[in-house]
Amino acid sequence: MNLFLHDTLVGKKTRFIPLNPERVTMYLCGPTVYNYAHIGNARPAVVFDLLARIIRVNNKLVFARNITDVDDKINAAAIKKNISIEEITSKFIKAYNEDMSELGVNMPDIEPHATKNINEMISMIEELIQNDYAYISDGHVLFDVSSYKNYGRLSRRDLTEMEAGARIEVASYKKSPFDFVLWKPSSKELPGWDSPWGRGRPGWHLECSAMIKKYLGVTIDIHAGGQDLVFPHHENEIAQSTCANGGEIFARYWLHNGFLSINNEKMSKSLGNISLVRDLLKDYPGEVIRLALLSAHYRQPLEWSDDTLKSAKKMLDRIYGSIRDIKIKKSHKNKIDIPISVMNALFDDMNTPKAFAEIFDLVKALNKEINENKKSEIASQILASGQFMGLLKFDPKMWFSDIKNKSITENEIEELINARELARSQKNFEEADSIRAKLEEKGIILEDTANGVRWSIVN
Ligand code: AMP
Ligand code: ZN
Repeated sequence: MNLFLHDTLVGKKTRFIPLNPERVTMYLCGPTVYNYAHIGNARPAVVFDLLARIIRVNNKLVFARNITDVDDKINAAAIKKNISIEEITSKFIKAYNEDMSELGVNMPDIEPHATKNINEMISMIEELIQNDYAYISDGHVLFDVSSYKNYGRLSRRDLTEMEAGARIEVASYKKSPFDFVLWKPSSKELPGWDSPWGRGRPGWHLECSAMIKKYLGVTIDIHAGGQDLVFPHHENEIAQSTCANGGEIFARYWLHNGFLSINNEKMSKSLGNISLVRDLLKDYPGEVIRLALLSAHYRQPLEWSDDTLKSAKKMLDRIYGSIRDIKIKKSHKNKIDIPISVMNALFDDMNTPKAFAEIFDLVKALNKEINENKKSEIASQILASGQFMGLLKFDPKMWFSDIKNKSITENEIEELINARELARSQKNFEEADSIRAKLEEKGIILEDTANGVRWSIVN
């Protein structure tokens, strides 16, 4: 099955053909660890975790997601709290991985830390200086953007126009406002490493370029990240990697997820409109949050509200409800049985809304089906599809076991359902409706299917 992906560099969907099918390489810009992850930060982690699963269907994959553990925001947080930088970063690396794991995100194959790869960054800078792509000025080393003719290609910007229109105040040590820092000096109280240019620390963009080269190679198949990283971060990564690697292609496909927004504004710490994954997990299982993040196509904006989670919960209730009473045969259970319609959707630039629509078609078919063998087959297809996407890990009965938070027991629900069935068979619809209403008051909704009545819980 061919995989199609939208490549930001060419601006369209193209067939993904790896350089080496036995070793596909993918890199995702990971978190800067000075705070708990908000749900916007979780979007790229979840989306590209799904892409890793998709690629692994056909190929062997090496997937790296870095940790930015040296950064001015981390320094500021450490100074503010009067603790060491490592205390901050180790705490939030752990928290990030715990939160992502709750969302069903597998650990990447490699999780390189910027601070453990400083020598590689220094070597890359030396290479750039030697070949006149970078210059030393006032204790800083800067990349000279005018030395790279394709600068601006990824973000479709023209450097000459940008420079003419630049209104920003230019730091005295820069030749052009768009020249970016590869190395900067550190004062005594800031983290720093010895280098040919004195004690200092690397620029953020350089971290990814150096770690990619070390762990994945000069040319990688896929480079991914949030849309906000296209400029300047990814533009700068391309410039410095291409120039440091003798003009070799840096990344063959560029993938970017759209923003998660609240009231149409990007969720970001600086705007103060964030919801932490940690807090959301107090109210919802990780699967609900994962499904909510995958409910929109990854390149589209995702407007986040309470309803996003409520409708994701309803979707999972419907899916779990459909398979809850089905006995899946052993012969079906042990077979990975993802229908081609679901796979086609996922291989078409990760069309998750279409994949969920296909799963719901299966749910509808299952609710209508009366043949036991067919029921088992459809249920196993639903399970396999959901589990491939990192969902449906609960035993369906367990899923509904948060019933303990309701003022009704499972037995009482079953009894009321039986009473309603009796009333309906006696054509006493008033009584039947009143039982349904009584259950609804307790947060239990009923669905009539060819296989009888199913109940689920609403929050
Ligand atoms: P940061 O820790 O700020 O470097 O962000 C980590 C990742 O989250 C990057 O890939 C960002 O592009 C991504 N990101 C941050 N905010 C959002 C958002 N509101 N929507 C989608 N992605 C985001
Ligand atoms: Zn990066």
